[in-house]
Amino acid sequence: MSINRRTCLAAGLALAAIPVLRVIPVGATGGYVVEVAPGVFVHRGRHAVFSPENEGDISNPGFVVGADAVAVIDTGGSPIVGRALKAAVTAVTDKPIRYVINTHMHPDHVFGNAAFEDDGVTFVGHHKLERGLLARAERYLAINKELLGAAAFEGTKILPPTMKVDGSQTIDLGGRTLELTAQPTAHTDNDLTVTDSATGTVFMGDLLFVEHIPTIDGSIKGWMALLERFGKTPPQRVVPGHGPAALTWADAATPLQRYLTTVATDVRLLIKQGKTLAEATESAGSSEKGAWILFEEYHKRNVSAAFAELEWE
Ligand SMILES: [Zn+2]
Repeated sequence: MSINRRTCLAAGLALAAIPVLRVIPVGATGGYVVEVAPGVFVHRGRHAVFSPENEGDISNPGFVVGADAVAVIDTGGSPIVGRALKAAVTAVTDKPIRYVINTHMHPDHVFGNAAFEDDGVTFVGHHKLERGLLARAERYLAINKELLGAAAFEGTKILPPTMKVDGSQTIDLGGRTLELTAQPTAHTDNDLTVTDSATGTVFMGDLLFVEHIPTIDGSIKGWMALLERFGKTPPQRVVPGHGPAALTWADAATPLQRYLTTVATDVRLLIKQGKTLAEATESAGSSEKGAWILFEEYHKRNVSAAFAELEWE
C-alpha cells in the first residue's frame, strides 16, 4: 500500500515540509531527490511496508556534497533504491562518493548498501550497528526476500560498517564537515545522527518519524529522553527517516513526542492496574489511532515493547 498526498490530507496529517531549493530527476523518475539546503539532498520514500511494487523504497535516504567528496546517508531498502540514489548523486556532481553512512540497522535504511560495494567507499555506522545487524542478518534477509519478491531483493547483502563511531566523530568532505554522533539507545541501540555543519541540517534517521507511525525497537524511555535533550537546542533543519524531506524540529518532533508520551503513560497506568500485556495492547495509546499512517501495522508491537520495558520500573 502506498500513501499519497490526498490520503495524508484525508487523514488530517499536516505536510509541513520546508521549501526545497531544487528538484533533481533520475532517468524517467521526476524529482528523485530534492535539495533541502545548499548541497544537501534527500529522497523521500513512501509510507508503506516492503512490497514488490515499492521495491523497498520506503524510507528517506540522502547525500551531502562537499568540494572533494560525497557522503551518502542511508541507502533505502534494496539495491534498486541504492542504485537510483547513486544515479541522483551522479546527476548532481562528479565528485566521488567516499562514505556511505547508515543511521541504524533496519533493512529499509541499509539494504541498498550493496549498490555502493564496488565503489571503494567507507561504510560508516554506530559502533553497535555491526552487532545488531549480524544478530538479525538471517531473519532480516529472509523476511525481505519474502516481502519484496526475488526481483527487488536481488543482490541484497548485509554490509556492516568498517568505520565505527563511538561518541562523536567528524568526517571531511572538502570545505565541509559532517559530525557523526552515536546516540544512546532510543529507536534502536545503534542510532547515529549526521550533522552537516555548513547548513545546520541534521539527518536524524528513525529518531524522527513524521506521518508514519514510529516503531520502537530500542527504548521508549531512552527515545523520549533523547527528544527532550535535542529540543533544548533544536537543530535548524532536520531530515526524518520517514516523512517529508526536511522540517523544522518542532514540526517533526512534536507529534512523535506526544505519541511516545501517550503510550508510556497509558502502559504505566495499565501495569499499575495489574492488566496483562494482551489487555494493554487492546487499549494503550488508542487515542493516537487517527494521527498516524500504518498504525494498524505497528502500534500493538510498540505497546508490547513499551510494556516489556516499563513493567520492571
Ligand atoms: Zn528504523
